[in-house]
Amino acid sequence: MIVKPKIRGFICTTAHPAGCREQVRRQIEVARSRPRIEGPKKVLVIGASAGYGLASRIALAYGAGAATLGVIFDKPGSGSRTGSAGWYNTAAFEEFAARDGLYAKTINGDAFTREIKEKAIQTIKRDLGRVDLVVYSLAAPRRTMPDGTVYSSVLKTTGAPYTNKTIDLRTNEISEITLSPATPEEIEATVKVMGGEDWMDWIKALKDADAIALDATTVAYSYIGPALTHPMYKDGSIGEAKRDLYRTADRITECFGGVQGFVSVNKALVTQSSSAIPIVPLYISILYKVMKEKGLHEGCIEQMCRLFGERLYGGDPQLDEQGLIRIDDWEMRDDVQREVETLWRKIDNSNLAESTDLDGYWEDFYRMFGFSTPGVDYDADVDVEVMIPSIA
Ligand code: NAD
Repeated sequence: MIVKPKIRGFICTTAHPAGCREQVRRQIEVARSRPRIEGPKKVLVIGASAGYGLASRIALAYGAGAATLGVIFDKPGSGSRTGSAGWYNTAAFEEFAARDGLYAKTINGDAFTREIKEKAIQTIKRDLGRVDLVVYSLAAPRRTMPDGTVYSSVLKTTGAPYTNKTIDLRTNEISEITLSPATPEEIEATVKVMGGEDWMDWIKALKDADAIALDATTVAYSYIGPALTHPMYKDGSIGEAKRDLYRTADRITECFGGVQGFVSVNKALVTQSSSAIPIVPLYISILYKVMKEKGLHEGCIEQMCRLFGERLYGGDPQLDEQGLIRIDDWEMRDDVQREVETLWRKIDNSNLAESTDLDGYWEDFYRMFGFSTPGVDYDADVDVEVMIPSIA
């Protein structure tokens, strides 16, 4: 079938198998070109099919030679419906890993459930013994509890309403948006979904089953960003969830004698979850322009190579005063943020093209779904029913 992008709001409902494969191949090339990581050998990546989780998997497999078990929540293609990008990314990753003699298996299902945790533990015990690193990279809109209760995360402020500029991704036009404050119940639900409870459950389940090494490391990801995003991110409902994640990292380190919990604060990048956040896409398109001009731009794979190669396994994680790893250091540099702020103040529809790297934003957006990728023939017939060899 010939696969074309179908954009609905801030997502694309189709994905291109050959384009996703090429994107994974390029990330592998980046990881291979970096100095070898003297790091973990058996890694569980929860949320391994896209964005930072996929890049973590690739950086560790190809940088450290690690065996990886991925947990994903994706759909295969069927008939005239394409699979999700995460499905094709994972199929490609497993294909390359098999070619290169790297262990790679994947479990598809809801990571919040006991059933998926059990499946992962069984696989680890059977194939790997114990894992020495757990990457927790979920970005989920909701979580269903064992009793059927569903919690949905919201992107709202926690104090007063907040008004600022945003970009309508359907029209590429700048407008103003006012974000309303979350109710206490909405904040609680956001913490349930994006906070640390499930991360803790994973580590406890692995520990109880003796499937995690005594001196293992575990890392989850967060974002802080500049003041203009604080009311809806750092100080918003999602920020409450991230603070819960920071406390969980400390609790993991305290509770499991030897296992160390970390949170890495990463750069703002185009991923399926960040494109859903108001204000952030406009900020990202300005940030891309400034960082590219300064030769500082990184994508997920460069960020993850730096995290594992230079911080977590590079001798010194260089924690900030809150105990966080900061690989958003280049994004937050004074000179970068000063320029972003100047552009942010003056940006409107008349100067959009010169004040942003909106083309770069859209390029990354399409590439996330396997489109706009050089070297891929988009007029060729492709099989959308791609198998993931190990899928369980
Ligand atoms: P993403 O949307 O690209 O990837 C999320 C992953 O989670 C996917 O593999 C998806 O399949 C998986 N997933 C979602 N729900 C699941 C479920 N119920 N069970 C199993 N897997 C599930 O997201 P991302 O942007 O890479 O975000 C990952 C983490 O990085 C999040 O904690 C996010 O807050 C953080 N982060 C993102 C950015 C950014 O700009 N994108 C910046 C800093 C930190």
